[in-house]
Amino acid sequence: MPHLRRDSFTLLRELMRWRVAMVLSVLIFALMIVLGVINTRLGLADTAQLAWISLAVAGGCIAALLALPKHHGGTVFFVSIAALLVGVMVFGLHHDRPMQHWAYIFPPVLVFLVSSRVALAGMIAFGAYASAMLAPLVPAIDVVRFSSGYGLLVCFMFTYALLQERAAVMLRYHSDHDALSNCLNRRTFNEAVEQLASGRTPAAGCVFLLIDIDHFKAINDRHGHLAGDRIITLVAAELGRVLDADMPLFRYGGEEFSVLLADQDPEAARAIAERLRAAVAAADFQGVPVTISIGLAAWRRGEGSITAALDRADRALYEAKRGGRNRVVADAPTA
Ligand code: GH3
Ligand code: MG
Ligand code: MG
Repeated sequence: MPHLRRDSFTLLRELMRWRVAMVLSVLIFALMIVLGVINTRLGLADTAQLAWISLAVAGGCIAALLALPKHHGGTVFFVSIAALLVGVMVFGLHHDRPMQHWAYIFPPVLVFLVSSRVALAGMIAFGAYASAMLAPLVPAIDVVRFSSGYGLLVCFMFTYALLQERAAVMLRYHSDHDALSNCLNRRTFNEAVEQLASGRTPAAGCVFLLIDIDHFKAINDRHGHLAGDRIITLVAAELGRVLDADMPLFRYGGEEFSVLLADQDPEAARAIAERLRAAVAAADFQGVPVTISIGLAAWRRGEGSITAALDRADRALYEAKRGGRNRVVADAPTA
C-alpha cells in the first residue's frame, strides 16, 4: 500500500505511545518532587539538583505532549528521557557519584523510540558508555556486576521488542486483509479512499476499477458454496498476478473486487482492466468457466467528489453487465 502512510493502525499506535508518554511524564514529575525534597532535607545538594533538572525535563515533556501533534509529542518525550539519561551519567562522573541505577531505564525508553534492531545497537552503545562513566568511580567488580545485569536486561528487552514487532506485523496484516481472498479488505479500501479525498496522500487523482464475477450465484448453485469460495480465492490470485505491486487489489464485497490506480491515465487504466478481464477469462478454475465484468471511472482532485466517481464506476459496471458481461466499460467524468 504505497499511498497509505498514516492509516488508522499507525494513528492508534501513535496515540498509545502518546498516552504512555503522558502517564510516564506525570509519574516522573511527581517522583522528582518527592526525590528533590528528600535529597534537599538530607543535605544532598547535588542529587537534589539532579531531581530538579529531571523535574524540569518532565514538566517540559508534559507541555510538549499537550502542545504538539500526538506523534511528535511521544517522540519528544522519549528523546528527552534518553538525553537526560546520557546527561545523568556525565553528572555522576562530575559529582563523583555512581549513577548506574539510572542506566537501567535506557533500554525500555529506546524500544519505544526505534525499531528493535536499532534499539539493540543503542542499548549496547549506552551500556558501554555507562560502564565507562562508572569505571573511575567504583571497584572493577561493581562495573562487572552492572554490565552483567544491564546485559541481561538488554537481552530481555530486545526479545520483547522483537516479539512485539512481529505481533504488530501479524495484527496489521490481519486487520488489513480479507481471510478468504488474501487481498486487502473493504475497511482498508474505505481508508485509502478517505485518505485520497482528504489529500493526505500525494496522488492528485486515481482510477477506480470495480470488478464483479459474472453469474456467481449460478456457480454457487451448480458447484456449491465451498467451490464458490475457492473460485473467489483463485480469481483474486489471478487478478493479483496481473497487477503491479503498487496497484492495490481490494475485496470490495462478496464476489466483487476493486483496484485503486493512483495517478493513472484513464486509457492506461482501461488497458489494465482489459488485461485483468482477459486473464480471468483465460484461466482454468478447476474446470469451471469464470468471467468478470469491470466498471471504470476516473477521479481528479477538484473535479467532483470521490464518492461520485465510485458511483460512476458502479454505473459503468452495471452497463458492462447489461452489455452482456465479460467486458470492460469506462465512464467518462461528468464534472
Ligand atoms: P452478475 O453477473 O449480475 O453479477 O450475477 P451474480 O450471480 O454474480 O450476482 P448476484 O449479486 O445476484 O449474486 C452474487 C452471489 O455471490 C450471491 C452470494 O450468495 C454470492 N456470494 C457472495 N459472497 C460470497 C462468498 O464469500 N462465498 C460464496 N461462495 N458466495 C458468495
Ligand atoms: Mg455482485
Ligand atoms: Mg456477480
